[in-house]
Amino acid sequence: MQIQVYKFGGASVKNASGVRNVCSVIKRNTNPMVVVISAMGKTTNAMEELVEAYMKQDKSLLKNTFDSIVEYHQQIIHELFEPNHSFYELFDQIQSSLWERVQLHPSLNYDFEYDQIVSFGEILSTQIISNYANYIGLKNKWVDGRKLIKTDENYRDAGVNWGLSSQFVKKEISFKEESVYITQGFIGSTINNITTTLGREGSDYSGAVFAHILDAESLTIWKDVPGVLNADPRWYPHAKKLKEISYPEAIELAYYGAQVIHPKTLKPLQNKEIPLYVKSFMDISLPGTVIESVEHSGNKLPVFILKPNQLFITISPKDFSFIVEDNLSEIFAIFGRNKIKINLMQNSALNFSACIDTKRNPSVLIEDLKKDFIVKYNENVELVTIRNYNEDAIEEVINGKEVVDSQLSRNTARYVVKESEWNFS
Ligand code: ADP
Ligand code: ASP
Ligand code: MG
Repeated sequence: MQIQVYKFGGASVKNASGVRNVCSVIKRNTNPMVVVISAMGKTTNAMEELVEAYMKQDKSLLKNTFDSIVEYHQQIIHELFEPNHSFYELFDQIQSSLWERVQLHPSLNYDFEYDQIVSFGEILSTQIISNYANYIGLKNKWVDGRKLIKTDENYRDAGVNWGLSSQFVKKEISFKEESVYITQGFIGSTINNITTTLGREGSDYSGAVFAHILDAESLTIWKDVPGVLNADPRWYPHAKKLKEISYPEAIELAYYGAQVIHPKTLKPLQNKEIPLYVKSFMDISLPGTVIESVEHSGNKLPVFILKPNQLFITISPKDFSFIVEDNLSEIFAIFGRNKIKINLMQNSALNFSACIDTKRNPSVLIEDLKKDFIVKYNENVELVTIRNYNEDAIEEVINGKEVVDSQLSRNTARYVVKESEWNFS
C-alpha cells in the first residue's frame, strides 16, 4: 500500500478559503493518506496567552482571550457551513469544554496546564476541517491523535514512545474502511491519557512520526513558500528555492536554525528513507523541494541562516587557570543545568565564549557562571550562519556590520554581528 502523509501548518488553514484549498489539495490525491493539521493561523500563540491569563488568574484577560479565540473560529465556520448544520453543536461542545477547563483552579505545574489548554487549537482545527471535508463529499475519518501518539510526561516537549505509538497508530489507521484520515499535529498523551505536546512547531515532527510508523511512501509538508529556500524570505529578499537536499544537509540546516523544518522531523524519515517534499499549497503544480537520502553533487547554493536576539558571553577562570577539559566539563554542566543551549562556541587558552538565545532569561546562568569565572558579554548581537559559503556570500552578510566573533569550517561560515539594519542590495 502506497500511503501518503500530508502535513498542513497554521498558515494553510488560517481562514475559510484556506480550508477549502486544503480540501482541494487532499482531493487531488488518490492514494490512502493521513492528513496531519496544525492549529489555525496564529491560534497556538493565542492559546499561549490564554494559558498566561489562566495561570495568573487574570479573569478579564482570560475571558477576552477566550472570546477572541472562539470568535476567530466561529467566523471561519460561518463561512464554511450552512446555518443549521449539525457541526455547530460539536463546536459548542468543544468550546464549552475549553471554557470549563480554564475555570478549574490551576495547578503549580505550568507546563502541564499549558498542554491541557493549548492542545485545543489542534482539536478545533481538525474537527472543522474533517467535518467540512465530509460535508463537501470528501470522505474522511477524524482521529484523535492523543489516542495514537503516546509520549513521556515531559510536558511541552514530550518524547514519543515509539513502541506504543506504533501499536496504536497501526491499529487505528488500518485503511480497511477509510482511505483518508485527518488528525492533529503537535499533540499526544501519556500512558495515563494525559494530553502532552511535542514542542512548538511540532506538527512537522508528528507528520514524520506517522510516516515512519506507517512506512509511508512520502511525507509532504505544504507551506506558503515554494519549498525550502536558501534563506528566510522575510529577512533576505533574494532567497532562492533549493531543488533537493540530502537528509544530513537538511539536519545541519535545521540545527543551525533554518526555521522552515522542525529539526526533529528528519531523523524518523531518514531511518526509513522516506522522502520529504516541501511544497506550496498556493500552487500545487510547482515541484517544491525534496529532501532524501541521495547526496547531490555540483555547485551548491549558499544557505543563509539568521538567529536574532543573541547574547555573546566570554568567560575566563578566576584563578587564571587555562581552559582545559576539567573547566570545560564544569562550564557545560552550568549551561546544562540552566537549560541554556549554546548556538556557537569557541575557546582559547584563557577564554571560553558562547552565543546563546536571550529568549530564555540568561541572568541566572550568568550569576551561576560568575561564581567561578570572570564573565563579560556583548548584548544585542545576531548569529549568521552561511552553509556552502563563498566570498560573495560572506561579503553580503558582513558588509557594514560590526563583527564580534567568527568561525570558519570547510562548509560553514558563522558570524556573530552587532544588531543593525539589514540592507541587502
Ligand atoms: P506553517 O504554518 O506551515 O508551519 P511557518 O510559518 O511555520 O508555516 O513556516 C513557513 C514560513 O517559514 C515561510 O512563510 C517563511 O517565511 C519562513 N521561512 C524561514 N526560513 C525559510 C526557508 N529557509 N525556506 C522557506 N521558508 C522559510
Ligand atoms: N500549532 C503548533 C505551533 O504553532 C504546532 C505547529 O504548528 O507545528 O507551534
Ligand atoms: Mg509552523
